[in-house]
Amino acid sequence: MASEPEVIRDKTAMRRWSRSHRSKGKTLAFVPTMGFLHEGHLALVRAAGDLADLTVVSIYVNPGQFAPSEDLDAYPADLRGDLYKLADLGVHAVFCPTNLYDYGEGGGRGDVQARRTEGAIGSSGSPVSCLEAAAGDGSGHETWVRVEKLERGLCGMSRPVFFRGVATIVAKLFNIVEPDIAVFGKKDYQQWRIICRMVRDLDFAVKIIGSEIVREFDGLAMSSRNVRLSPEEREKALSIYNSLSKAKYAALHEQSTCQELRSLVIQLVTEAGGRIDYVEIVEQESLIPVEEIDSPAVICIAAWFGAVRLIDNMEINP
Ligand code: AMP
Repeated sequence: MASEPEVIRDKTAMRRWSRSHRSKGKTLAFVPTMGFLHEGHLALVRAAGDLADLTVVSIYVNPGQFAPSEDLDAYPADLRGDLYKLADLGVHAVFCPTNLYDYGEGGGRGDVQARRTEGAIGSSGSPVSCLEAAAGDGSGHETWVRVEKLERGLCGMSRPVFFRGVATIVAKLFNIVEPDIAVFGKKDYQQWRIICRMVRDLDFAVKIIGSEIVREFDGLAMSSRNVRLSPEEREKALSIYNSLSKAKYAALHEQSTCQELRSLVIQLVTEAGGRIDYVEIVEQESLIPVEEIDSPAVICIAAWFGAVRLIDNMEINP
């Protein structure tokens, strides 16, 4: 086994670590995660290891991207297991801050666990995250990064505060870790595209790499949320991968229309017992819905199995 990664909990110490290595000419690759690591995350970490001298992984469940009605409290965690897996891959530093919205005295603590409420609408009338719901006007945090068009469709429809929270926390992490390269999974396709756009639009000096989806032996996309599926739901959830595969085949070999492809996926997942949030076929970069697949597109789906919402996608390159 490689040596243990340095575990850093404080953002100033993280920045110091990063700067001291960069000043010696070392390049740094970064993989942001919310922990409870599985092979999907580890593939990103391996990719990062091949791209730079040093690898940093962050583990932080970000309250700014969860609505009060969502599963922040149920999000699984296993820091000890995560550190063990990361040591095995030769990761150099693991950044696991307690609260990235704690700005110290007078700045508000953003104490999310203690004062979480069920309220989902802020004083401005817009939906709020767990961060604001917990702290009211006292969170001290009021700056949000919005990638205005890309954040609107797909997951943004049913999770209105999600991408604002993701873009903001990734921007904060980039400013703290100061990596040369960051690796994101295409499993969260819209997230990956949003981060690419944010980096381009705001001139972050970070190269973004998109890493392919890692699946279980039978095709289910790996996700930290899969452990919350009952054995029956786990079986039913396989309809996501099976229906996407059939739709991809139909798109490439049967010239099916996008409407037919969507209907096929919706039918197969619904018949299996899933509840569809959305099924969309969109252009790969702009995420704008397409009628016909005559250029690179991606079929994206979100569906509920019991209390667990799963997402997946498949690129189609005609
Ligand atoms: P999360 O911990 O869910 O926030 O994920 C951290 C990173 O791992 C994100 O860039 C995800 O897209 C990526 N990721 C999660 N699951 C997979 C998977 N099955 N295949 C590839 N990347 C993944």
